[in-house]
Formats: sequence, C-alpha cells, structure tokens
Amino acid sequence: MSERVIPLVDQRLTTRAAVVPTTPIDATGLLGDALGRPLRDLRISVTDRCNFRCSYCMPKSIFDKDYPYLPHSALLSFEEITRIARQFVAHGVQKIRLTGGEPLLRKNIEILIEQLAALRTTEGRPLDITLTTNGSLLERKARDLKAAGLRRVTVSLDGLDDAVFRAMNDVDFPVADVLRGIEAAREAGLGPVKINMVVKRGTNEHEILPMARHFKGTGAVLRFIEYMDVGATNGWRMDEVMPSAEVVQLIHSELPLVQLDPSAPGETAERWGYADGSGEIGVISSVTQAFCHDCNRARLSTEGKLYLCLFATQGHDLKPLVRGGTSDAELASAIAAIWQGRDDRYSELRASMPPDQSTGGRRIEMSYIGG
Ligand code: SAM
Ligand code: SF4
Ligand code: SF4
Repeated sequence: MSERVIPLVDQRLTTRAAVVPTTPIDATGLLGDALGRPLRDLRISVTDRCNFRCSYCMPKSIFDKDYPYLPHSALLSFEEITRIARQFVAHGVQKIRLTGGEPLLRKNIEILIEQLAALRTTEGRPLDITLTTNGSLLERKARDLKAAGLRRVTVSLDGLDDAVFRAMNDVDFPVADVLRGIEAAREAGLGPVKINMVVKRGTNEHEILPMARHFKGTGAVLRFIEYMDVGATNGWRMDEVMPSAEVVQLIHSELPLVQLDPSAPGETAERWGYADGSGEIGVISSVTQAFCHDCNRARLSTEGKLYLCLFATQGHDLKPLVRGGTSDAELASAIAAIWQGRDDRYSELRASMPPDQSTGGRRIEMSYIGG
C-alpha cells in the first residue's frame, strides 16, 4: 500500500492513499470493521468554510482571512460525492448527514440532496438524509431543502441570551435569526428538529435551563453536547467540560425527567423524557462516557478523505480513485478494505491514555471533518 505522511501542522495533508485490494470485496450490506461494528452512518462534509467563528470549533485567531481554506478544485463535485455515497450505501449505510463547516454555504446544496435522495438502501428503502447547520441561512432555505428530499435538520444553538449567543458565534450573529430558522424548518416539515447545544463550563451553562424551558413542549429535541477535545485549535481543557450527568441533574431538579430507551443501535445521544410527557431531551457524553463500542459512523471530508473516527489523525484519500478511472466495484472494494481494518475507539481509550501517548495537537479539525 502506498503511503504518504507529511509531518506538517496542517493535518489535512496527512493522508494515506486508498488502494483497491487485489481480491475484490463484494458489497453485501453486511460489512463489519475489525471490532465487528457495521457501517450504517455516513457524514459528509460539503465545505470547510463557515460564517460563524465558534471559539470551540473555528477560533478567529486561527481561522482568519489568511487561513488556507481548500480551493474549489480540491472539493468533490456533487456527482463525485454521490458516487462515493452509493458505494457506502451498498455496504449498509442507511443514514447520511451533511455537515461542514456550514453546509448551507455550499452553493446549490439542494442538487446534492436530490441526488442522494434518489439512492436506495440494500433493502430498497430511501435513505434517512439529514443536515447539521448553524441555522443562519435556514429561514431562507428550509422549503427548498425539504423539496429536494431532506428529511430532518439539526440546528446548533448554544444559548437563548442574545449577548451570550453573539459572543459564542463570535461574529455578532443574533439569536432571533436562528430561532426563525428553526421555526421555518418545522413549518417546512423538517421535524422533529434537533437542537444541539455545546455546553462549555464558565461560558454558557447558565443557558441550560432557559433552553430546556424554551424548547419543552415544542416538539423539538434539545441535545446537550459535552465540549470535546476535537481539533488542535480550540485550547480544550477538561475543567471546561460539564459532564452530561450534571446537565441531566440540573434539568431534573426543575423539570423532572425519566430515562428513555435508545432509539437505534449506535445512537450517540442518551434520551431523557419529561415526566409530564411534554417531549424529550438528549445528552451526548463523548468525553465522560465513551460510546465507541457500537460506533457505526464514517466521515467523508470535503475533498474526499475518509475518516474512521472523529479523532482520527489520518484520512484515507478516495479522490485519486474517484478521479482516476476506478470502477464502482473497485471503489466499493477499496472502501470495504478500509472499513474492515478499522479499530478506532478513541473515546474509550482517552481516559487511560497518558498525555504523551494521546494524539496531542495532531487531531483533525471539526470544521474540516464535520460533527
Ligand atoms: N456548522 C454546522 C453547525 O454548527 O451545526 C455544522 C458543522 S459543526 C462542526 C457540527 C456540530 O459540531 C455542531 O453542533 C457543533 O456545535 C459541534 N461542535 C463543534 N466543535 C465542537 C466541540 N469542540 N465540542 C463539541 N461539539 C462541537
Ligand atoms: Fe461554524 Fe458549526 Fe464550527 Fe460553529 S460549530 S464554527 S457554526 S462549523
Ligand atoms: Fe466513534 Fe471515534 Fe467517537 Fe469512538 S471516538 S464514538 S470510534 S467517532
């Protein structure tokens, strides 16, 4: 296998070229990785750009006007993305999430959604196509997204207090516009809308209860995400992580909760329902409670690199295959060989890892690989 490892700070360049195995691997929909985990969920990053500068993701000091974003020629076209996605679906993927950067900044994203919506699972069913967005362009685009075949959206929102929200997105974007985007998504039939709130201790934990009160009874599912040590630029510190157990306790003290069963295997959120039956919340505890054992997610970067874990230090470059005359069967075989070799379980290992053996600052940025 040819391998190209360039020891540069920019981890986007650290890539292993995907290769077609000499013995073809048939797409049976039953592919398993080295730990027996199936492939069910594909997250596709459609841009590495964003109009927000959330400090935990794209801090202004790094992502400034001189930041070397990918040139347009490096991005996969919609046809290339759909061709790759088709092979993943043949291997068992049932759900596709579009992400970024801010996915709604990618021009004509509706066309990509239409193409993906035409794919069928190995059982002949339509895919579950969703999108994670900061909501800034949602009011304008919700109807077209729905018409193109999008099923649901997840909107990121870190607080209701306008000053807190403007400070967290760091571009002075008003909370009212995101709330209108959420409403537009609901009206367009993109519900139940999920709302992702990253909780950073010392920054927005006082927004937890107002957020819970606001969305309780609206049909939206609010999910609290532990601030994660993704990327190398956000200056992550454990003391800024608020464990999900504390979040649940805080809400439960005012709005009683009961634990619910997981909705699907590999589901990242632990579900809690309001005891009065007025809806549910979720907590995603990627720091305090590892969920690697049934992690069935693959991630495709904007330029065609396949990552097997959110904390991977190396991608597998599919673009040379896609642009180099490889057949669909060969592409599917190459993807299968990569997945079969997957033994990533970073969150499970994190707790026991001495700092000098962790991946340290060499992780890939969330804005590049998507959430
Ligand atoms: N721009 C879109 C958005 O914000 O929804 C999609 C991309 S964003 C990278 C996907 C998700 O990752 C968002 O919900 C965001 O809050 C979350 N995220 C980014 N950095 C994070 C971090 N350090 N810890 C936890 N979640 C993070
Ligand atoms: Fe942009 Fe989303 Fe990252 Fe915030 S979390 S900077 S909105 S990509
Ligand atoms: Fe999946 Fe990696 Fe997260 Fe574990 S750390 S749940 S393997 S993405």
